[in-house]
Amino acid sequence: MNKRLDWIQNELDTLKEGGLYNRIRTLSSPQGAWLQVDGKKVLNFCSNNYLGLANHPRMAAAAKAAIDRYGVGPGAVRSIAGTMELHLELEKRMASFKGVEAAITMQSGFVANLAAIPALVGKEDVLFTDELNHASIIDGCRLSGARIEKYKHADAADLDRVIRENKGSYRRALCVTDGVFSMDGDLAPLDKIYEITSQHDVMLMVDDAHGEGVVGRGGRGIVDHFGLHGKVDVEVGTFSKAFGVMGGVIAGNAAIIDWLRQRGRPFLFSSAATPADVAACIAAVDLLEESTELVDKLWENGNLFKKVMKVMGFDTGNSATPITPVMLGEAPLAQQFSRELFDENVFAMALGFPTVPKGKARIRVMLSAAHSPTDLEEGLEAFKKVGKKLGVI
Ligand SMILES: *Cc1c(COP(=O)(O)O)cnc(C)c1O
Repeated sequence: MNKRLDWIQNELDTLKEGGLYNRIRTLSSPQGAWLQVDGKKVLNFCSNNYLGLANHPRMAAAAKAAIDRYGVGPGAVRSIAGTMELHLELEKRMASFKGVEAAITMQSGFVANLAAIPALVGKEDVLFTDELNHASIIDGCRLSGARIEKYKHADAADLDRVIRENKGSYRRALCVTDGVFSMDGDLAPLDKIYEITSQHDVMLMVDDAHGEGVVGRGGRGIVDHFGLHGKVDVEVGTFSKAFGVMGGVIAGNAAIIDWLRQRGRPFLFSSAATPADVAACIAAVDLLEESTELVDKLWENGNLFKKVMKVMGFDTGNSATPITPVMLGEAPLAQQFSRELFDENVFAMALGFPTVPKGKARIRVMLSAAHSPTDLEEGLEAFKKVGKKLGVI
């Protein structure tokens, strides 16, 4: 190997010595309540497949039909020759689902943030961002070149303070927050945030990746949950979590979406989403609009799981969604807990520093509408056994 690349091996070795090297598990089954992982069948408490749509027969059928009709590749970026009827149909359906004027789709939720933020603010501007925002928001903020001012997590009063301190020092301002914070499952206080940003004439954007298909009426998202239609300027969402496919979406008023068609760089310079993905996303909107059954089941599962965990004596943090953190304190304990669960055929992720603050390591349980009552019972039984063995309960 070249000497000039030796540093990489050194860095990798340091990660391994510190127990921070991520060994990535491999699936040999579709997404669902159970997974085949590294040759073993395990109960799935890790995926963002909230509604069980990732392997839903109607979704798969829609994707297959789109391949037969439109082929597999988009062939171009959206702005040259990559916009198919399907893309426009999905955008129209999403705007209607979310109750906004217009929507534009992107290749992923990550990319949606990279498209939206730099199109709205630049060097002379300022960003007010929650200190715990997702990596893709952080990267979108950095790309924009605007000054970044953080406020305390989910703290509208602190946002007010930061905006006041920066008054007069910028051309435009944008406040950006996650809707649902995925490490704790808590919600941004979007109603209070809107009160503050509207007072100071600051644009407001929410990234609802974990709220889309989960919170609000029939999964219409956090803006719907708080009844803030027409008030939040930009809603970013993803098709890769509850929607079970892949892709991102930005929804808002017609002028903003028109502007993103002109200035959203990943829209202009990276090829369109594939016909199969787009058709499956449309099928997901169909399913969500037809019935709230899956969303209701997701919440029932989440509420039941949390309730029983609390009765057993576990600390499940302050989640307001079906995301269930199981607070354990130190990272080595969380890692050991996760390994012991895996031995009991339960796949649940340990999260430690720097993903979450020091001393706040946890197991994060991702519930899904795909879980049956027996699945939940088995999962809870495994938590009880491991919790007792490790002296947590
Ligand atoms: C997962 C996530 C994303 C990325 O979405 P993808 O569609 O997987 O790229 C963006 N923002 C937040 C808040 C997320 O949780």
